[in-house]
Amino acid sequence: MDTIESRPVPAQLRAIFARIDAMRDDMVALTQALVRIPTVNPPGRFYEDCAKLIGDRLRGKGFGIEYVNAEGEKSHSTDYPRTNVIARVEGQGAGPCVHFNSHIDVVEAGNGWTTDPWGAEVKDGRIYGRGTGDMKGGLAASMIAVEAILAEGLKFPGAFEISGTADEESGGWAGVGYLAKKGYFSKDRVQHVIIPEPLNQDCVCLGHRGVWWAEVETLGRVAHGSMPYLGVNAIRGMGAFIQKVEQKLYPELDTRTTAMPVIPEGSRRSTLNFNSIHGGQMEPDKEYEGAPSPVVADSCRLILDRRYLIEEDPVDVKREIVAILDEVKRERNDFQYKIRDLLEFAPNMTSSGDPLVKALDGAIAQVFGKPSTHVVSPGTYDQKHIQRIAHLQSCVAYGPGILDLAHQPDEYIVIDDMIRSAKVMAAASMALKGVVTL
Ligand SMILES: [Zn+2]
Repeated sequence: MDTIESRPVPAQLRAIFARIDAMRDDMVALTQALVRIPTVNPPGRFYEDCAKLIGDRLRGKGFGIEYVNAEGEKSHSTDYPRTNVIARVEGQGAGPCVHFNSHIDVVEAGNGWTTDPWGAEVKDGRIYGRGTGDMKGGLAASMIAVEAILAEGLKFPGAFEISGTADEESGGWAGVGYLAKKGYFSKDRVQHVIIPEPLNQDCVCLGHRGVWWAEVETLGRVAHGSMPYLGVNAIRGMGAFIQKVEQKLYPELDTRTTAMPVIPEGSRRSTLNFNSIHGGQMEPDKEYEGAPSPVVADSCRLILDRRYLIEEDPVDVKREIVAILDEVKRERNDFQYKIRDLLEFAPNMTSSGDPLVKALDGAIAQVFGKPSTHVVSPGTYDQKHIQRIAHLQSCVAYGPGILDLAHQPDEYIVIDDMIRSAKVMAAASMALKGVVTL
């Protein structure tokens, strides 16, 4: 049996690990500086400042820096430019390029904080703030990992790239999606991508479930509320649809199982959420104190969020919703509906035999003294663009943050986790480059 615990640390890694330990304060300060730039998306504030912070630092470490604005993308504007930064450093001779990609946007702070969300306060071995876990702490850890290799003067083939990209929280089209379209993840340039999203420090995240958002609108005919039989009420039509989904589809979705190791375990099945519903008259303004008027609703709109498994066919996922709508139509006179796609991404799952996964498995075993866990994310992240647009399959998420804390008040990252995961990232990349064997 393989005795992982007693596995000696190869000499080159010992030097890198010691260097990472010595860079602890620097890593904390870097994370704090990143968190103190409130890159809240939407609307996408201060991307340029954050990209510059990353670019200026890495230029000083010997990287070539490129800034790419997402010209032509919907979210890119003069007021809120979508600035991405890509840093690249070449090694000696031919070899793979290992790319670390982090999104630099964060969600709004929201309520319920007991610390300043933009203060990046250090307390009890943790850094608190919006974006510490998701994912500026992961970004800082990946920067330190590569900087430590460079600082030790170790020779390596190929190249390293580090990117900070926009808009992941709102779909990533002006960030990784844009860079993928422009060839930044092409096969001749990048061979492996690690995304330090918060998926827990001893887990390798192979991919994510599929997603389909759609708007269902039921249509009616307006009439006076005192004579509803003269109109057709779209809200009642929507009610009939929802009732069928409750009776038929929800129990059916619960029976579908998957080989995808999704975490949290509750997401290890097919799910459906109704994100919103609006029917009839608009809600009056808060200042309005009068009564509403009596009208039969002629429209009701519902946004559905369907998350599906790799075993499911996306065509069937849509078909089963349409089948329910058609069934309601057969049963109810005057029932009309429209359905419109809002967003869709297929599920993806990198093979556990991929060299990148193997390298991370080896590095996690080396650093933690126990085997890694392979997981799949319940929601999508930028891996979708890298695999869908750039067709680069050797891409996973691996980072130090704690998944459950993402987007929560009092979000934090554990400094020791960042150190350990920086070691994993450094060790895995040196293994991919053939410098060490794990
Ligand atoms: Zn994230």
